[in-house]
Amino acid sequence: MKPEISIEFFPPQTPEGMAKLRTVCADLAKLQPSFFSVTFGAGGSTRERTFAVVKEIAAEGHNAAPHLSCIGSTRANIRDILTDYRAAGIRRIVALRGDLPSGMAEAGEFRYANELIEFIRSETGDWFSLEVAAYPEWHPQARSPQDDLDAFARKVKAGANSAITQYFFNADAYFNFVDQARARGVNVPIVPGIMPIAGFTKLARFSDACGAEIPRWMRKKFESFGDDTESIRAFGLDVVTELCQRLLAGGAPGLHFYSMNQSALTSEICRRLALN
Ligand code: FAD
Repeated sequence: MKPEISIEFFPPQTPEGMAKLRTVCADLAKLQPSFFSVTFGAGGSTRERTFAVVKEIAAEGHNAAPHLSCIGSTRANIRDILTDYRAAGIRRIVALRGDLPSGMAEAGEFRYANELIEFIRSETGDWFSLEVAAYPEWHPQARSPQDDLDAFARKVKAGANSAITQYFFNADAYFNFVDQARARGVNVPIVPGIMPIAGFTKLARFSDACGAEIPRWMRKKFESFGDDTESIRAFGLDVVTELCQRLLAGGAPGLHFYSMNQSALTSEICRRLALN
């Protein structure tokens, strides 16, 4: 059976960005993803834009899943958003805690994502299929791997249907995480998040912040390319395609691509995997 893929966008800030995203979405729709997801700025900073992009993708006939983060929000805020999504016929949400934007002191009425899942289920029953985040290399704020696994298990127990992981470049971290989750009785699909590599400097910075390890052999090789963007791109494509092959061969139920609103790398990786 062909593995399912899903593709993530962020809501553009400008009309030009939105126009480009329309082209990117049309291009990536050829891969027949099971859904496109659209990120959400914590504290509701992208609420209108996330909703607008989701509605547009749905109007084109694709399944669209908004991300929804709860930190900095009240129950009333989240209830309003759920009502809007329900009225628009949206059936899937990627439910997250999020991170408080710097300068925003008010944590709101939710502390962790499991509380959001519980709230969505209590407000809307089974209307939404709920995706949650998982961290094969552990969330940077987790007190311990065991605590993080407990937190993940709590989200699933609260009603999550499926999980998408933070991106990683070490397949063993993913397989180990899945084994440990299964040993705890967590049986939902755990879909690896895949980050196509467009450049190295930004990736290194972002990976440090979100706790994704770039293995030394990869880091050294990328650094050796300097400003040679073609070599970086070619090596990145090889590395990420091989990672996907290993994940799928080892039983990963699908792939979730962090497209960064670009189509070329995701399309090329899927072509190499014969998923196009
Ligand atoms: P949680 O599951 O609540 O976990 C957060 C931390 O708290 C973990 O360290 C966990 O171990 C710990 N924890 C949980 N429960 C407890 C407890 N009871 N006591 C003590 N510690 C606990 N961010 C956005 O802002 N917008 C997005 O659109 C977005 N999309 C994402 C999509 C994916 C697939 C992923 C993997 C991440 C995404 N993020 C997004 C980032 C995410 O919001 C951050 O990683 C955030 O810091 C954690 O969110 P969470 O839902 O995993 O939180």
